[in-house]
Amino acid sequence: MTKVLVATDKPFAAIAVKGIREVVEGAGYELALLEKYTDKAQLLDAVKDANAVIIRSDIIDAPVLDAAKELKIVVRAGAGYDNVDLAAATAHNVCVMNTPGQNSNAVAELVFGMLVYAVRNFYNGTSGTELMGKKLGILAYGNVGRNVARIAKGFGMDVYAYDAFCPAEVIEKDGVKAVASTADLFKTCQIVSLHIPATAETKGSINFELMNSMPKGAIVVNTARKEVIDEAGLAKMLEERPDFKYITDIKPAIDADLAAKYPDRYFGTPKKMGAQTAEANINAGIAAAKQIVDFLQNGNEKFRVNK
Ligand code: NAD
Repeated sequence: MTKVLVATDKPFAAIAVKGIREVVEGAGYELALLEKYTDKAQLLDAVKDANAVIIRSDIIDAPVLDAAKELKIVVRAGAGYDNVDLAAATAHNVCVMNTPGQNSNAVAELVFGMLVYAVRNFYNGTSGTELMGKKLGILAYGNVGRNVARIAKGFGMDVYAYDAFCPAEVIEKDGVKAVASTADLFKTCQIVSLHIPATAETKGSINFELMNSMPKGAIVVNTARKEVIDEAGLAKMLEERPDFKYITDIKPAIDADLAAKYPDRYFGTPKKMGAQTAEANINAGIAAAKQIVDFLQNGNEKFRVNK
C-alpha cells in the first residue's frame, strides 16, 4: 500500500494531523507518523518504505534520500525549503514541493505585531510614534509580502514594494508603489519589511550600506530568513545609528550580544513565531497532503521546486 510519512521533529497540532489523515486515508493510502524524533537514525529508518514524506523544518539530505528507496515526493509544509537538498532530490528522482501561501497571513500579522511594539519603544513607557502615514517598503512581493501590503493599507501606511521577479504593474494594481531596486526601497522607506527567500543572491545582501541609506527613525523587520542579513553590517548599523531599530523573527548568531547592548532597539522573538498559528499549521499540513495525493494520482507538479 502507498505509504505517506509525516516526519516532524516539531509536530503539527493534533487537529492538523487529523486533517492530513483524512486526506491521505481518503485517497486509500496509509499514514505513518514520526514525531519529535531525537536521532537521525529514526528518520532514516522511517523513510525506508515511504512513498511520500511530509516535513516541516526537518532536514532532507542525501543520506535520507539514499535510505528512502521508494520515495517519489517530499512536501515541505511551509514556504521556505532550504532544509531540503534539492540537487540530491533531483538526482534521486524525487519531486520536492512546498506549500506556498498557506502561512502567509500568519507571518504578515506578526510583522505588524512586532512593528507596533517597535514604534511604541518596546512598551517602555515613553512616547512612541504611529504607523499611519509612514512609508513602508516591502522587499519581495510574494505571498507574505502581498499580505503585508493588504494589512499596511488598513494602518494607513504609504506602501512601496520591490520584487526582482514580479512586474511593477502587478504591484501597482494593488495600490502599492513599485520602485526599481532594493536600493531605492531602502532609500525611500523609513520602515522596510524583508520577504525575500535565502538564495545565493540574497544571502548577506541586507548590508550596512543599504540600511544606512534609510531615512531617520529607520526600522528593519525580518520575518524572512536570518541568512539574508549581513550580521556585521547589522551590528555596525545599530552601533552607528542610534535612531535605528531591528526586529526579527529569526535571530542572528549575534542575538544575545545585540539584545544585551540595545534592549530598546533590537528585538528577536524567543522562538521563530511567524507560521505558529493554528490556522497556518492546519492549512499547510492539509495542503501538503492534498498535493501528494494530486501528484501520485494525477501527476500534478504545480508546486514542484526542484524543476
Ligand atoms: P514567496 O515565494 O511567495 O515569495 C518570495 C518572493 O521573493 C517572490 O515574489 C520572488 O519573486 C521574490 N524574490 C526572489 N528573489 C528576490 C530578490 N533577489 N530580490 C527581490 N525579490 C526576490 O515566499 P513567501 O511565502 O512570501 O515567503 C517569504 C519569505 O518568508 C521566505 O524567506 C520564507 O522562507 C519566509 N517565511 C518565514 C516564515 C516564518 O516563520 N518567519 C514563514 C513563512 C515564510
